Amino acid sequence: MLAEIRGLNEECGIFGIWGHTNAAQLTYYGLHALQHRGQEGAGIVSTDGEALRALKGEGMVSEVFTPEKLEQITGTAAIGHVRYATAGGSGIENVQPLLFNSTTGSLAISHNGNLVNATQLKGHLERQGSIFQTTSDTEVLAHLIKRSGYESFEEKAKNALSLLKGAFACLILTEEAMFVALDPNGLRPLSVGKMGDAWVVASETCAFDIVGAELVHSVEPGEFLIVNDDGMRKERFAYPEERSICTMEYVYFSRPDSDIDGINIHSARKRLGKQLAKEVHIEADVVTGVPDSSISAAIGFSEQSGIPYELGLIKNRYVGRTFIQPSQEMRERGVKMKLSPVRQVVKGKRVVMVDDSIVRGTTSRRIVALLKEAGATEVHVVISSPPIKNPCFYGIDISTSGELIAANNTVEEMREIIGADSLTFLSVDGMVQNIGRTDPGSKCGHCLACFTGEYPTNIYPDTVLPHEKEKVK
Ligand code: SF4
Repeated sequence: MLAEIRGLNEECGIFGIWGHTNAAQLTYYGLHALQHRGQEGAGIVSTDGEALRALKGEGMVSEVFTPEKLEQITGTAAIGHVRYATAGGSGIENVQPLLFNSTTGSLAISHNGNLVNATQLKGHLERQGSIFQTTSDTEVLAHLIKRSGYESFEEKAKNALSLLKGAFACLILTEEAMFVALDPNGLRPLSVGKMGDAWVVASETCAFDIVGAELVHSVEPGEFLIVNDDGMRKERFAYPEERSICTMEYVYFSRPDSDIDGINIHSARKRLGKQLAKEVHIEADVVTGVPDSSISAAIGFSEQSGIPYELGLIKNRYVGRTFIQPSQEMRERGVKMKLSPVRQVVKGKRVVMVDDSIVRGTTSRRIVALLKEAGATEVHVVISSPPIKNPCFYGIDISTSGELIAANNTVEEMREIIGADSLTFLSVDGMVQNIGRTDPGSKCGHCLACFTGEYPTNIYPDTVLPHEKEKVK
């Protein structure tokens, strides 16, 4: 995936395990499989039933952990986190799991998603005397748990979770248990698996494959799972609301070998590519996909259209993070270092270039130019999702529509900006119907807010930048 150069980033991935002597090592492997969900920081907190021990740092999983360091956090349970900083900014203090030591009981939290009422809750807690150590909205949950008037930890946690609004897939670890919760709309994916007697939980099922765990079920919206030495118990902290899983998980974020609610990501993307080929007719010689996330859709487009699929672009897998620079110029150079056209494939050809999304448009413009410089006579860009016109408040770093090319331009203007011979987006209906979810309602269980502007939760005033307010339906 080209997340780091295209400006569309998942916030986090989480992994947890209870009941295995190699808990920290297995969490390391789980986080490795979830690395695509966040590359800025990683952490593990483990417990041996006596205390919680943390190991975390900035950078990739392989940079943060060594076998020697993992030896220091022994125990039979652990939770982990990989992070891309959206809410709260970067800095080691914001790398999760957040660990809170207290004489009344320690706890650690891993959170994927973004709260839309964090500012309100934080203000309320600060007025009651809470002092925050981080700028991460996840810390709000810890303060709410500690300040809850309920007797047991379970009731405190359920009460605190019921006050959160927005997207949250959470793991909470104490010396006695691991708790699992998913927001009432189920905006982010979260699955439970089994590995012998051990329970595992992960943002994506690809993490189960790497540790050898079997999928048991997806966590339901509003569910609260208690995992301890007695097994797993299901409770609720909230009634489920209309299911609204992030559609971009299917289109772009999740790994092709992951399944979300029984739907394989590669197969869903292939169907999106097929549907695109039904929605547009293009005379062309080859179809190519922008690696890695668009390959599946490109194969689908090729199968449906009859235009042969070719490897027209390859990704240089060994470009280090050092090259990722924030400036526009360096962003564009980054594309050149990360992607190369296969000259013999595209030279003298009319090329269909399949991509999964367009955010700012700069990456698409650069890739079209690369293909043309390599001799492509025409480049037709087809996108396996609709135009992204609205900000996301649920953990994806598109927080203002000012940076979104589709919010400010027509499709024809976008085509002109990226220098393509034609530009086609998939329809909203075509996308929803072909992903294959069958939840009740016209949205079939999807969040479509960045495409349609219809947000599945309330959006609180402080969440929305002043100039975005009129866009939020
Ligand atoms: S607004 Fe878009 S990116 Fe954000 S959760 Fe909804 S579908 Fe996903």
